[in-house]
Amino acid sequence: MTEQERIARILGRLDEAYGTDSHTYLEYGNAWQLLVATILSAQCTDARVNLVTQDLFRKYDSLEKFAAARQEELEQDIYSTGFYHHKAKNIIACAQALLERHGGEVPSDIESLTALPGVGRKTANVVRGNVYGVPSIVVDTHVGRIARRLGLSANDDPVKVEFDLMEKIPEDHWILINLHLIALGRSICKSQRPDCEACFLKEECPSRGKASGSGKGAGKAGKASAKAGKKAGNASAKAPAWKKSPAE
Ligand code: SF4
Repeated sequence: MTEQERIARILGRLDEAYGTDSHTYLEYGNAWQLLVATILSAQCTDARVNLVTQDLFRKYDSLEKFAAARQEELEQDIYSTGFYHHKAKNIIACAQALLERHGGEVPSDIESLTALPGVGRKTANVVRGNVYGVPSIVVDTHVGRIARRLGLSANDDPVKVEFDLMEKIPEDHWILINLHLIALGRSICKSQRPDCEACFLKEECPSRGKASGSGKGAGKAGKASAKAGKKAGNASAKAPAWKKSPAE
């Protein structure tokens, strides 16, 4: 089996298990709400964020209200999402920047998005993928860990993992791969005790029965997996037709 065939089988099995509907688990009604929800989701579960934003978006029903919010009050409103001080500060500054620089619109290009306070590459990609349908790969803790276990990346740095995946995964799966690997990471390929025997990717996974933990050890296992994955594939295979430049 070439590396291309192995990846195609992985994607096919993920599609079968989780479907091909791209959606985010965060609830939002418009682009700036998704931006706020994504800022809140750092180090917090989507379920908790959805609970908080139900009331939050009722209270602050416009960007102007977020821009004019009192930080201490907003901190209390988002307290349960954690890191509330930084998040409140960033949300207020982000709303102000959107109004001042972009006329209240959320930009679609990565440079303008990542120039906003509190918006990193991951948040920018969530917005680009979900609001604008721009293919992008969001690398969170699940995606990074499982990409390494599956031998799709040997890197720990999320931006490097993102570029590795963009090289290997066809563009029509860039948004889906995030949703699929999060679903797999929450149910089967967990950080500490992956259930390899129950995993529908065990035939294609070089880490089957070997993965454990998510810290440095996982990084090492990932590097070994990337090697094994490459070995399993055809090293002389030409670059896949879908290969794109990481430059956006
Ligand atoms: S076989 Fe194990 S390590 Fe590989 S993806 Fe499945 S659960 Fe994760």
